[in-house]
Amino acid sequence: MSRSVLVSGGCGFLGSHLVDRLLRRSDVEKLVVVDNLWTGVRDNIAHVADPRFSLQIADAESFASSQRFDEIIHLASPASPVWYMREPARTIKANIGGALNLLALLRPGGRFCFASTSEVYGDPLVSPQPESYRGSVDCTGPRSSYDESKRCTEALLFEQQRVSGLDVRVVRLFNAYGPRTRIDDGRAISNFVSQALTTGVLTVYGDGSQSRSWGYVDDIVDGLERFFWRDSISHRGPLNIGNNHEVSVLQTARFVSSLVPGSRIQHHPPIPQDPTNRCPDLTQARRVLPGWEARTSYQDGIQRTFEWFRRQIATASKQIAT
Ligand code: UDP
Repeated sequence: MSRSVLVSGGCGFLGSHLVDRLLRRSDVEKLVVVDNLWTGVRDNIAHVADPRFSLQIADAESFASSQRFDEIIHLASPASPVWYMREPARTIKANIGGALNLLALLRPGGRFCFASTSEVYGDPLVSPQPESYRGSVDCTGPRSSYDESKRCTEALLFEQQRVSGLDVRVVRLFNAYGPRTRIDDGRAISNFVSQALTTGVLTVYGDGSQSRSWGYVDDIVDGLERFFWRDSISHRGPLNIGNNHEVSVLQTARFVSSLVPGSRIQHHPPIPQDPTNRCPDLTQARRVLPGWEARTSYQDGIQRTFEWFRRQIATASKQIAT
């Protein structure tokens, strides 16, 4: 059966890759992206010429439409600490307000998919983190606008499932990265790569011993498509989606630095409440999505991201020169 789909945040880094992926499907009848271009950029979807696609510039929390959708995928939210810490109220509105508003646009029996985050585990005391781990989160800390609005939206959706049988899908994403990240995004891999290509000085916060599990965008979007699209499913979430190879931030910076001879690492003061570790337990994902695995090594994924950033920076400097 063909589906009408709404993707909030479809001009963002992850959203635009998911839009590309969904438009490859013949069972998508129509795909509407709702994006306010806060962190998303038009360029990310500028190549899309598919007649089934349309873009609405609007906030997820106030977008109005007479149309009803078979599937709504709610991604609208900043994901970089730099961006969400700058505008906490707007972050909360995008996540919770967006979900509340978009739920009303779902046709009866439709499906609501949501991108939650590994940040719901806070600074985890168990590793790797299974979905059953309830987390170690400071609900008034500097990351709380993001963590808590993701948690509250999860609560909203699972409670709607309980009281009204809503078909939900909720993923918890672990440090996705790749092409189409903004150059001013502020997260580690995009910072390291753009710094290596421009100033040659990579900023590591603290001693760099904190660790992350970097998920290359193609692997992540593959997992999202499988999970969001499948009708018969034994588990509707929350589901960890990520790569479970954990590396330290310093090791990551060293690898990026090795791609540009002469670049160097500079240590800066640690970020308050920066999680010390992060690694997905993928037992559930392997059971629910047989055959899916995040296979791209961080070295390969970073190389590909590096090449994309290199081209972006070269194009931008050519435009400035002319
Ligand atoms: N980080 C860093 N330098 C940067 C950006 C980030 O050392 O220029 C560190 C940051 O302190 C954190 C890790 O890299 O320990 C991942 O940060 P990111 O913002 O990518 O994601 P999150 O903190 O949300 O996991």
